[in-house]
Amino acid sequence: MIIILKENAGKNECDSLISMLNEKGVKVSGINGVNHNILGLVGDTSKLDIELINAQPVVERVQRVQEPYKACNRQFHPDDTVVDAGGKKIGGGHVQIIAGPCSVESEEQIISTAEAVKKAGATMLRGGAFKPRTSPYSFQGLHGEGIKLLLKAKKATGLPIVTEIMSAEHLDLFADVDVIQVGARNMQNFELLKQLGHSDKPVLLKRGLANTMEELLMSAEYIMSGGNNNVILCERGIRTFETYTRNTLDISAVPLLKQRSHLPVVVDPSHATGIVSLVEPLSRAAIAVGADALEIEVHCNPSKALSDGAQQLKPEQFEKMMENLVPMIEFCGKKLG
Ligand code: PEP
Ligand code: MN
Repeated sequence: MIIILKENAGKNECDSLISMLNEKGVKVSGINGVNHNILGLVGDTSKLDIELINAQPVVERVQRVQEPYKACNRQFHPDDTVVDAGGKKIGGGHVQIIAGPCSVESEEQIISTAEAVKKAGATMLRGGAFKPRTSPYSFQGLHGEGIKLLLKAKKATGLPIVTEIMSAEHLDLFADVDVIQVGARNMQNFELLKQLGHSDKPVLLKRGLANTMEELLMSAEYIMSGGNNNVILCERGIRTFETYTRNTLDISAVPLLKQRSHLPVVVDPSHATGIVSLVEPLSRAAIAVGADALEIEVHCNPSKALSDGAQQLKPEQFEKMMENLVPMIEFCGKKLG
């Protein structure tokens, strides 16, 4: 990190800034420029409060040389992280297709959907038991009962399960879940992230509706700094001015996150677009730019779905999509499953 001091910075003020920085455990070396004095900071600067330093009267501006995230940074961990999700590998040349309904609605619904997506080639099952809904009057999910039904569907099909947590208080209910999903709305629920950091379960961390990639990586850092390295990043579309789609899929996030971080990246084209006909083309785009998995909503009867009916594929649509997708996965030198 570099601190550029104001032209008229007084010696006493500079010295007190330097001792404040030394107290925080960083070494400071000075460079005298023609118009400015520059301080170079060496050591662990991740705990420094940049706003506080910027607010010091002698400081012109602060510039980071290194990203504020360490554990998920590819610089310090050049090899790809491969997450074991209930026996399925996410990353390292494997592509997982996580498919299933938006919400778990009944035993018959989740088991028939699980069987249908498995038959079409899905390698993992999704389904929400705790649903983050905009309206408190909308279906909120079956909660613990929903997780039990997912476990039944896992038993029936062998597919590992992915389901969303909304509060750390519910963590015990997730004991047998293979991957815990943190939804877009909870990406910055820092207390939840800290609790997940103390678990060893894989966490599928979705990008917030209006969050930058750096904020997503900082949220991953919360989980990893607690000791849990099993983090999977998920691009699920961000809010833009566009109204034809539910969100805008930030396709550049996939290669960029993979350049900045060693963590695997998943794309959710269902929530990114909200439109059935866009799921397949964007799935192909996601595979082409290097996604390690796709999360796709599939429902046996979307018109009767209790949530997200407009974006859920029917099993036959999913099957057709998979037929076109598998050759593409292979063309990219990767393996389904
Ligand atoms: C979901 O996957 O069911 C979901 C609610 O997604 P998101 O958090 O991306 O909106
Ligand atoms: Mn949904």
